[in-house]
Amino acid sequence: MTQSIDRASTLTEQLVAWRRHLHMNPEVGFAEHQTAAYIESELRQMPGLVVSRPTQTSVLAVLKGQQAGRTVLLRADIDALPIHEENTFEFASQNAGVMHACGHDGHTAILLGVAKLLSERPEEVAGEIRMIFQHAEEVGPGGAEELVMDTPLMEGVDVVTGLHLNSSLPAGVVAVKPGAFMAAPDMLTLTIRGKGGHGAHPEQTVDPIAVGAQVVTNLQHVVSRNVAALDALVVSITLFQSGSTHNVIPDTALLQGTVRTFDAELRARAPQLIERVIKGVCDAHGATYELNYELGYRPLINTDWVAARLREIALETVGPELYQDAKPTMGGEDFSAYLQKAPGAYFNVGSASDAADSHWPHHHPRFTIDEASLETGVKMLHAAALNLGQLE
Ligand SMILES: [Zn+2]
Ligand SMILES: [Zn+2]
Repeated sequence: MTQSIDRASTLTEQLVAWRRHLHMNPEVGFAEHQTAAYIESELRQMPGLVVSRPTQTSVLAVLKGQQAGRTVLLRADIDALPIHEENTFEFASQNAGVMHACGHDGHTAILLGVAKLLSERPEEVAGEIRMIFQHAEEVGPGGAEELVMDTPLMEGVDVVTGLHLNSSLPAGVVAVKPGAFMAAPDMLTLTIRGKGGHGAHPEQTVDPIAVGAQVVTNLQHVVSRNVAALDALVVSITLFQSGSTHNVIPDTALLQGTVRTFDAELRARAPQLIERVIKGVCDAHGATYELNYELGYRPLINTDWVAARLREIALETVGPELYQDAKPTMGGEDFSAYLQKAPGAYFNVGSASDAADSHWPHHHPRFTIDEASLETGVKMLHAAALNLGQLE
């Protein structure tokens, strides 16, 4: 274990260089052409890896170890977001309107680092390590689903792991949790149809803005009054568009939002609970509606034994003072797609520090990471690859 710690620290400069190159050249999901080409060319400089492209913008590197063992899949996501970066450091995005605001540049650099360490010492490696640089995590239906359903990536995989940098944890902290870890992010789109008219004569109209406003507030009633307090449910209306000027009541209002759950039964029940409120409010005020409810990624439920193993690895790798039991989050992750096919666990590495000004939330135009977290990520994932590959 100490060996992988020492070796990760020899990569510091290289990790920072990879991450900064990726940060300067972000691309959104399904369009990661330069990103994938860069990853592929870096991997091709490492001996012993078999490099391929499972899809147009994903890259796979496979290393066969010199001892018998299991097949382990390590995953990093590589896509950026349609956000205009507000950071001003010299490696800020050069692609206007696109930004690595979730830390996937860091994930990619970490997995490149792990590939390098593993490729230098195949004699240490048991089994087969597949390293997938996955496209389109931020764009539904997600790159993971495509890799799992349409390519042979998961054939023969015994266990899968990966990590997300986390700006709400101090840099260097590793956090692991068995069981329910991240939520299912489902989406709703609602069109409310009223009857437009003059702003001075609302009595002659059915005002879709007034109805929509009641829908928004009444939906919180589903969360607070229809669902048990300990069954996690979040309903957020995140888009409300209607009207064009100050004296015209419009015909329609468009609302969109996200519905987050962990529990399968509640997830299945949520659409009915939500529609009952929408229908009740619309009926009461003479409006009609169309509701489109789309299921997003599955909830991310870590396999208990893999999470327990990662916890042990973290305690040895970073030590008890930098280890935390992770808390579940209502965020969604398409890593859950891999867990349909094999046991596995996803974990967090903290990336926040005052020195790097990296407390900003994920998806914020000022988001960044403390680059010291890259080394922690490499230590953890490298140790996990060696450990999980071993036969019992
Ligand atoms: Zn994200
Ligand atoms: Zn992310």
